[in-house]
Amino acid sequence: MRFRVDEIASVLQQEIEHYQSRIEVAEVGRVLEVGDGIARVYGLPEVMSGEMVRFASGAMGLAFNLEEHSVGVIILGDWLCVREGEEVRATGELLSVPVGEALLGRVVDPLGNPLDGRGPIETTQRRLVESPAPGVAERQPVNEPLQTGIKAIDSMTPIGRGQRELIIGDRKTGKTSICIDTIINQKGTGVKCFYVAIGQKESTVAYVVDVLRRYGAMDYTTVVVACASDPAPLQYIAPYAGCAMAEYFMYKGEHALIVYDDLLRQAQAYRQLSLLMRRPPGREAYPGDIFYCHSRLLERAAKLSDELGGGSLTALPIVETLEGEVSAYIPTNLISITDGQIYLQTDLFFAGQRPAMNVGISVSRVGGKAQIPAMKKVAGGLRLDLAAFRELEAFTQLRTELDPATQARLERGYRMTELLKQGLFQPMHVTDQVLVIYAGTHGWLDRIPVEEVGTWEREFLRFIHEKKRHIWERITETKDLDSRTEDELKAALAEFEKQYQESRGRARPSLVRA
Ligand code: ATP
Ligand code: MG
Repeated sequence: MRFRVDEIASVLQQEIEHYQSRIEVAEVGRVLEVGDGIARVYGLPEVMSGEMVRFASGAMGLAFNLEEHSVGVIILGDWLCVREGEEVRATGELLSVPVGEALLGRVVDPLGNPLDGRGPIETTQRRLVESPAPGVAERQPVNEPLQTGIKAIDSMTPIGRGQRELIIGDRKTGKTSICIDTIINQKGTGVKCFYVAIGQKESTVAYVVDVLRRYGAMDYTTVVVACASDPAPLQYIAPYAGCAMAEYFMYKGEHALIVYDDLLRQAQAYRQLSLLMRRPPGREAYPGDIFYCHSRLLERAAKLSDELGGGSLTALPIVETLEGEVSAYIPTNLISITDGQIYLQTDLFFAGQRPAMNVGISVSRVGGKAQIPAMKKVAGGLRLDLAAFRELEAFTQLRTELDPATQARLERGYRMTELLKQGLFQPMHVTDQVLVIYAGTHGWLDRIPVEEVGTWEREFLRFIHEKKRHIWERITETKDLDSRTEDELKAALAEFEKQYQESRGRARPSLVRA
């Protein structure tokens, strides 16, 4: 056998050239103790806070507490396979999740692994789970409506693209339903939706996914799930992971909507982790930085400036209250972080007022800027009128004799509240909303029996769509209600009223209207 000198030389040279890249340099530590989803690790002095670490058994972890002689690691996934004394390697990378169009229509866990059995998620892009929120100079004021399709919300507490609106209420008051309706209503608008389910039952999440599929909303929606049975670390990172997936679209200049259902569960998961890590408990045993936990999440919702593409991320965080206690720690934190709240009340819900929004204390601090001009015109005083009506109603409950003016205000109020009721999964086009609210606030419903309001509304909209299509189209196109259209609308209302009363065998003139 003969050696060829030049061959040996080239092989040696190659070996030397690649010498550096062959050596794997990694910090290796050992698990000191493990339990309850967290591990204490010795020997990772250079690890960063929030860095991913890999256990020899395959589980991933996140460096959470950097202490003098050890590192507290939260284990993402199954922690039962992690053993004491096991090797742990620092990866040098912060936690990230896959992002991109491939995620739409999928159900994933907070690490971006598919849960829906529809194969792997094919995307090469990733985003850091924790990334800084855009600064003041990178934003612009919220000025574009995000239509929820819910009459009570779009007319009285309008939500703009880039806004953060808290949905707050006791259990079973329709919080999730409002968000699902909003997602369904984004069909055809190009808004990408993200629903983050935290600490819920798997059956509840399966129901939500099923509804979204049935209404064709899964085509543009991603569901991120950390169920009640999942470890606390996953429940804690789920909102940040969902936010990273949604941000991808915002930074691309598109519009996204994210629902966090709900942040009380996330706070509880964070409390559990913090207490296990022996961080000092504060108010209601939450750690001192729980406010920061939620503020850094919600600050990431924004309307970007035009230079950055003008994309937006709208956030609808949900928080559950106990017995209507809005002054509890987590709800007050969230109220102060967000740009308004929609407060849902149990007694209204059971009285049949659904969505059970308490008009008096629900607000949107962005307000009219997030409404189309036509809606602004017709619904301007609606919120105050209804709040006044509620007070008047409570006040007059004991009295039987009422003066005619008070009686008339009460009657108007009853009809308006009836008009604002809306069934599940029936989001309404904003022009339809403008038309019926115009009719209500201008007294066209005053002589209709309260229980007929729903029928009247349906028939009126059918009448407009069939016979007065041009009015509908003009409002939709101009987004405004100019005086010519208003006159035509008045005439249409008069014509419809005549037809409606006749069809019910009530021959009756209705003359001057407000
Ligand atoms: P949880 O506390 O369990 O999360 P939630 O506040 O999210 O409850 P939902 O699950 O949205 O409440 O709704 C509770 C129930 O109320 C559901 O069965 C739903 O069908 C019903 N519901 C909600 N909104 C309406 C509505 N507008 N019309 C009729 N039924 C409604
Ligand atoms: Mg719910």
